[in-house]
Order: sequence, then C-alpha cells, then structure tokens
Amino acid sequence: MPDEKYMRAALELAAEAMRAGEVPVGCVVVGPDGEIIGRGRNRREESRSALAHAELEAIHMACESLSDWRLSSCRLYVTLEPCPMCAGAIINARIAELCYGAKDPVTGSAGSVINLFMENYGHSPRIYGAVLESECSALLREFFAGLREKGADSAIHSRAGMEPGGEKG
Ligand SMILES: [Zn+2]
Repeated sequence: MPDEKYMRAALELAAEAMRAGEVPVGCVVVGPDGEIIGRGRNRREESRSALAHAELEAIHMACESLSDWRLSSCRLYVTLEPCPMCAGAIINARIAELCYGAKDPVTGSAGSVINLFMENYGHSPRIYGAVLESECSALLREFFAGLREKGADSAIHSRAGMEPGGEKG
C-alpha cells in the first residue's frame, strides 16, 4: 500500500527540479527495509538529454545501491505518471509496486494514454495512482503558470501548451 511519506520525499525532489528551472518531477525508490535507496528528479535541461527523467535516475541509483539490476523487492514513488520510456525501465527493473501522483494525459503510460503495465511483458508491478495527486499536480500547474508569466518567448508558450504533460518539451 502507498505510504504518503515516500511521495512527500519525491515531491521534495520535484520542488528541487522546479527551483532549477526543470519541469517538476521527482522520484524515489524504496528498498526492502523501507529505506529510500534511489532518488531522482527531472534534469532534462541541465543534462540536455531526453533520457534525464526522474525515474531513470532513481532506478539507476537503486541498482547501484543494491548492486543488482533486479529491484523486485522495491517500490517506486513518482510525482507524475510514468512515460513509456520510464514504464519500460520499471518493467525491466522488475519493480514490485508503482505509486504515482498526477496523471499525465500527454505521455502517461499507466493508463492515461496507454497502460503498458497491462501488456504481456512478463512482469507487472502493483499500481497505485493519485497518491497525493493534488500536491503533485499543483506543483506542475505552478511551474507552467510561471512559464506563461515569463511570456514573450513563443517556444516557451508552445511548451506551456503541453501541460499538464509534465515531461513533454
Ligand atoms: Zn519518463
């Protein structure tokens, strides 16, 4: 079952991303004894990489922490519904349980656009959506409202137009 304290830890990472000018998405991986063993946040702008999503960073750190690519005893908390890339990583890492906050109508792959976790890939995590959903989506709304305020740049306008597709750019 979802534990809100872990989503709050993911929210802190999302807030950190926002302060750095990134779309606010944060993620933690919780190990078998309830300890946070992976943390990640969106750093797409900083890394100039389409791969720099919060979930991939947190999964990478958790694998290093356990010295194992199998995270079958772990739970993943992320503030935004995973995109197809991150859903694939969650499946590949055999994460036991996925808890996400806000839905993503643009790239959400846990049911919003497609539910990749229902497909026959040989592993399906238990999924809990809408964990602290209002806090998670409030942060995204605040970020995109800030972008609109800055205003003049048409590229920014078109990006803001993608909301609430969090990690779209
Ligand atoms: Zn992603």
